[in-house]
Amino acid sequence: MQKIVPHFVNGRFVEPHSRDKHLTIMNPASGAPLSELYFADAELIQVALDGAQAAFNSWSLVPAVRRSRVLFKFKQLLEERLLDLAEIITAEHGKTIEDAKGEMQRGIEVVEFACGIPHLLKGSFSENVATNVDSYTLHQPLGVCVGFTPFNFPAMVPMWMFPIAIACGNTFILKPSEKVPTLSIKLAELLHQAGLPAGVFQVLHGDKSVVDALITATEVRAVSFVGSTKVAKYIYATSAQHGKRVQALGGAKNHCVVMPDADMDMVVTGIRSAAFGAAGQRCMSISAVVAVGEYTADHLIARLGLALQGIRVGNGAKSDVDMGPIQNAQHRDDILQMLEKGIEAGAKLVVDGREFEISKKSKGYFLGPSLFDHVTTDMEIYQQEIFGPILCVLRAHDLDSALEIVNGHQYGNGAAIYTQSGAAARQFVSAVQCGMVGVNVPIPVPMAFYSFGGWKNSKFGAANMYGPEGVNFYTQLKIVTSRWPELGTEFPEYIIPSSE
Ligand code: NAD
Repeated sequence: MQKIVPHFVNGRFVEPHSRDKHLTIMNPASGAPLSELYFADAELIQVALDGAQAAFNSWSLVPAVRRSRVLFKFKQLLEERLLDLAEIITAEHGKTIEDAKGEMQRGIEVVEFACGIPHLLKGSFSENVATNVDSYTLHQPLGVCVGFTPFNFPAMVPMWMFPIAIACGNTFILKPSEKVPTLSIKLAELLHQAGLPAGVFQVLHGDKSVVDALITATEVRAVSFVGSTKVAKYIYATSAQHGKRVQALGGAKNHCVVMPDADMDMVVTGIRSAAFGAAGQRCMSISAVVAVGEYTADHLIARLGLALQGIRVGNGAKSDVDMGPIQNAQHRDDILQMLEKGIEAGAKLVVDGREFEISKKSKGYFLGPSLFDHVTTDMEIYQQEIFGPILCVLRAHDLDSALEIVNGHQYGNGAAIYTQSGAAARQFVSAVQCGMVGVNVPIPVPMAFYSFGGWKNSKFGAANMYGPEGVNFYTQLKIVTSRWPELGTEFPEYIIPSSE
């Protein structure tokens, strides 16, 4: 019998009473089962909500400096266990160990940021806004917060949310992707080893039914979501309808504009890793390149074609591998279908990922890197997010027409430009319509002390994830105006306490 992945409720590992809905978790590199996951039922969800509400009453009163100490300890435990945690990510997701360690590191950086919560919660104070009147602000926690996360970052995306939420004094229920459930349980275990009280951080597993129960629950004050645009829109609308504060990050098609003066060695190294790392299953992957000028495009295609043939595809747990499998069989089939649509639409397939030896022979869900040239904006492979190892190259005459292409797309997560011209870079940074921009940097993921979020169909709701925006999202502002009479001035008689 397979190992069962537990839920984590009120400081304990638990299994739901009902076993109606379940999923077998597979290792994508071998296609072999790893564990069994039973979804939370209504009873368990309510136990978690009650626990989160009760824990909020005491956790929100713990001084910020003591909450911060728990996070310092958590960070230390994460660093000590980094390799074990990375191995869990690789086993369930498929990405290489180095990539999984990098994901852990980016999550740890948010924990580091959250450790500074006593400073981050400082308000402002204005003396004498009117005679003897002062004004100041308080940033107070909201209550029970919930988060829903995608399969592609089992550690980093949850850590965009809960370290800041709990540092601010909230309690948090995480429903991670049901496809990669184990890492979140390990995070819960380490948080409790670090001294977090029961009920402050809980993990419930499941699908839409668990999500729906949480976003409509009266106990829940705020909803954080990262996943596909279709679900992000649904979560945004439904949560708002139920009076919740909500931030919902969706899908992406990240563009990279390559100017004729770009350093081609830098471009090829950058795009190879940004487009095919984690088999293209990253929300900030480069999936569309716009080459400016025919010579740039021809040269780039020739260089990329060679570079892609050198990508070593295999089991991410092994050290000599650059790219692991697709996370699940269904997703690989969807990607293959998109590949066929690209060919039918007339794009030129320069490198065919299906031809890689491992794509044909392995029981794992492997697909090599693919490269399409002469992609046009009317093609489905360009308009839709593929979320796999397929790179589309489009051609433009000049920077203005390249920008027109990028800005015409439905998504606006990240975009990058490669150039040696400060003027071109400056024009691109100013005019491009997306939330995160790179100049000679292919994946411009902001550090933990900035914040993460896209534009257009890549984000619904005003707040970005983590950084100062995260602190704003997980707190509510109170503005106090107070008047104290001058010394020697008597209070009106009716508020002077009687001495008798
Ligand atoms: P998904 O939308 O299928 O699932 C995300 C979460 O929503 C999961 O926890 C899942 O259980 C839940 N869910 C799925 N269907 C639902 C429904 N109908 N109702 C309510 N909840 C539902 O996304 P995924 O396939 O796990 O992840 C890939 C997607 O995530 C890609 O589109 C990728 O671009 C996006 N993503 C975006 C970012 C970002 O920062 N913008 C980061 C990572 C991933």
